[in-house]
Amino acid sequence: MTNATTIDGHGTSRTVVALGGEGIGPEVIDVTCEVMVAGKMPVDIVTPPHGEPAIRSHGSPMPDETKRLCERADGVLFGAAGAAPTSAVVSWLRWEKGVTASVRPVKHYPGAYSPLARPDGIDYVIVREAVEGLYPGREGDLADLARAMPDLKDRVGRRVGDYGEGRFAVKIVSRAGAERVARLACDLAIKRKRRGKPGKLTCITKSNVLKLTDGLFQEVVAGVVKSYPELSFEHFHVDDGARRLVRFPQAMDVVLTMNLYGDILTDLAGETAGGLGMAPSGCFREGWAYFESVHGSAPDIAGRGIANPTAAILSAAMMLEHMGLAPEAERLEAAVARVYRDGTTLTADQGGKASTMEFGRAVQEAYRNQ
Ligand code: ATP
Repeated sequence: MTNATTIDGHGTSRTVVALGGEGIGPEVIDVTCEVMVAGKMPVDIVTPPHGEPAIRSHGSPMPDETKRLCERADGVLFGAAGAAPTSAVVSWLRWEKGVTASVRPVKHYPGAYSPLARPDGIDYVIVREAVEGLYPGREGDLADLARAMPDLKDRVGRRVGDYGEGRFAVKIVSRAGAERVARLACDLAIKRKRRGKPGKLTCITKSNVLKLTDGLFQEVVAGVVKSYPELSFEHFHVDDGARRLVRFPQAMDVVLTMNLYGDILTDLAGETAGGLGMAPSGCFREGWAYFESVHGSAPDIAGRGIANPTAAILSAAMMLEHMGLAPEAERLEAAVARVYRDGTTLTADQGGKASTMEFGRAVQEAYRNQ
């Protein structure tokens, strides 16, 4: 691969492609790579060109060689997307690769800042459907929709043409798509149950208003759960669901929701457990996965060396587990937990004074000393 930099690893058994993206992305990914290398994990890390620099060097934000490297790698770690060039990167990783779901753990580590009075024991996962619903956008002019579907009416009989000039967005729920993501969520709930979690799937929709689309999603999910007799099932409408994530977060195990609701609820849930700086994620499809923080490029703090790299480090832990390096993943998560318990080297979002790099070094030390 031309122009790809390899960071010295400690063995050649796994290859990781690390793409920083933009804003705080490269800062948190650099620190995360340092942690993996210092921990002598059996990974070789490759950092191929992408985003703005790749447009200059290769004429594309996601050059074919970078795509090939990602497809061949054992793990892909992404920092954060912002403007068009890095949005194009995430667009390839997520939409073009057709990921089924984004899996977003919500876990409180004692010592992490939470606005809740009692965040202890928060430990659940939100599974966000990734390629249907209202994302990626399918939008157009109302006049075109009125021409194509002149008889389309809302519940009170108003036709599209009655609104005058405007725009529309299409929400898609396919039976196959809902089934795929429901199976992924159920498999995850089973895996967690084996580790002592309750084995419960909570589905969140707005099926009382969107009876056809959200109604189909709810119906399909409920049907899939029936084939997992070890799991219990509940459903909430998204307004009630949002309230419950704040009021009863400890009652959650695996929460399954559609794209737009998941986008909002995962930020909300992330805050209850310590903030966006601590929220990791993994995006999965049969035969493909990549890992990234829930947060974006955070332009307000980019370039200042103060971003919290926990979300990226925990995303790397998810990646390590996915690559078959569960012991390293567990040890890395335990190292992060230790740094929060100690509480002396936390970043500004957690009320501390440590820089991104200092936090990373503290994790390295905690990893070494286990
Ligand atoms: P996007 O639209 O891509 O989600 P954004 O800038 O609107 O990007 P985020 O990047 O997710 O939103 O960040 C929202 C705010 O949360 C930031 O302005 C920043 O203050 C804070 N934040 C996000 N990530 C971190 C982090 N890793 N460490 C510290 N603060 C963070």
